[in-house]
Order: sequence, then structure tokens, then C-alpha cells
Amino acid sequence: MFTLPPGVTFLERGWLSSNNIVLQDATQSVLIDSGYWTHAEQTHALLAHHLADRPLHTLINTHLHSDHCGGNALLQTAYPELEILIPPGHAAFVDNWDPKALSFTPTGQHCPQFRHTGVIQAGAKFTVNGTEWQCHAAPGHDPHALIIFNAQDGILISADALWENGFGAVFPEIEGFAAFDEVEATLQMIDELQPRCVLPGHGGIFEAVPAALARARSRLAQFRADPAKHASYLAKVLLKFKLLELQRAPYTAFYAWSEDLSYLRLAHQEYAGPVSYKDWIRGLCVAMEKSGACAMDGDFIYNAG
Ligand SMILES: [Zn+2]
Repeated sequence: MFTLPPGVTFLERGWLSSNNIVLQDATQSVLIDSGYWTHAEQTHALLAHHLADRPLHTLINTHLHSDHCGGNALLQTAYPELEILIPPGHAAFVDNWDPKALSFTPTGQHCPQFRHTGVIQAGAKFTVNGTEWQCHAAPGHDPHALIIFNAQDGILISADALWENGFGAVFPEIEGFAAFDEVEATLQMIDELQPRCVLPGHGGIFEAVPAALARARSRLAQFRADPAKHASYLAKVLLKFKLLELQRAPYTAFYAWSEDLSYLRLAHQEYAGPVSYKDWIRGLCVAMEKSGACAMDGDFIYNAG
């Protein structure tokens, strides 16, 4: 069992929020990712407990999906001196808050507005507790995503580029960008870093990195061979995310929410053939019910699993 070195803490969260990683020493504390907004108070409580009475100095977002930066606003209020560093790709949309360009509107998710105080580029390095961490560009799941590697201890903060079982849906593909190649290049880069231990954006810590990379590559090959399969995976991810948030909703209201989601509309247009949008969404929910990810009873849909 891999023991994290002193000053590195992995706070594993439920799937609605990304995990949080805390790096600290006697003089500073750094948080990587802040979870989803509905869990922001819990994130703050976990962090406050962990930091005791000390403030949080720096928050770095690996990427600006709502489940990774939804706690930014609350933490910015709780720690007024907090430095918030984001990948530069979407910085202009944070400056002139644009929930559409930041993917919150197209995914049907929410993120309270926050201010960033700086950007963090691929190649940037920072030292905590005498150990250097380096940011690497990890496009694919998100074109501007970063992963953060500590070569001394072989620890990789992989965000949604690599999980123990797979990786985050490849959103740019649905928008018409050929991002599967970027996923492949990112997996190759992780392979070359040879991490001994991965702290992923979702799910538990894992050490069997070659096996996880093999699973990720096999999954990528399936998506390449059948992009419609990837589109329905991405659609189910968005539906499941909303169910995790709502837990229970009248099906008509759930369907009405889905009607305005441009990612789902694009996936339907490209990959659903002649099936109507309404029937396609219903079919996805039925498939999710079969796999135990939700339940439908009368007029209601429930989260499950
Ligand atoms: Zn993500």
C-alpha cells in the first residue's frame, strides 16, 4: 500500500464532486480542485478541519468543469486572501463570466461565479514541503486541462485524464473536434512519466498504473471504433450527473431540463439516427435503469447505484 508523503492529503469525494488534494507545509497550503457547488460547504468543512486554524493560500483548478471548480466562489469568500490559479485557456471567460463558453450551460450544470487571481501554465512548477510539483498539459477530456506530477515521489494528480477505470468523457469530440488523438497522447505522456501512484479526479487512489492505462487505451479504442458509443456514454454521464444532484424528479421535469442541453442535442443530431430526441433520452434512461444507474417508477426518475 502506497503511503502518501507528509504534507500530501487526498480527500476522496462522491462522484458529484471531484476529489480534493491538499498540499501543505509549515508556511503554505495548496488545494487542487474544489468540487461541485452543491457540496461546497462540505468541501470547506473538510478543508477547515484539515488545515485547523490556518488559512488556505492557493487553489489550483486542473480544469474548469463545474465539478472541479464549483467550490471556488465559497472558498474565495471563506479565505479572502486566496490565490486562485486556473489554466489560461478559459481565463477570458472567467474574467467576463460566460457560463456558456465555460461549459456550464451546455452541460446543464451550475457553477457560482468566482474571480481568478492568476493562471497556471503547462510546464509551471511549484514546491511544497521541499518537493517539486510540475504541471503538464493533458488535453482530451478538456482541451485546457492540466495534470500535476511529483517526480520525486512518483505521485500524479491526474484529474479526469486517467481514472482507475477509464477517463472523463471526451467533450470536444461532440463539438466536432478530433480529440481522441489528444486523449491517446495524454495517456502516452502519463505512461512516460511512470507514476507510482495516481490521485485521480474521481474514485480512489491507485497504484496499478499500467493496468489502468491498458483499460483506458482499450476504452479509447472502443470509442474510436464506434463514436456513437462514446456519444451515448457522454450523454449518460450528463444525465447521471443531474440525477446525482436531484436524486429524484418527475420524469417530465427531468426531460424538460435535458431539452436545452446543447451537448445532448449535438450528440443526438450526430449519432442517434432517425430516433426522436424524446425517444433517445428515454432510451438512455431505460439503459441506465438496466445497468442500475437509475430507477423509474410511475412518473418519477430516481438516482440509483
Ligand atoms: Zn472534467
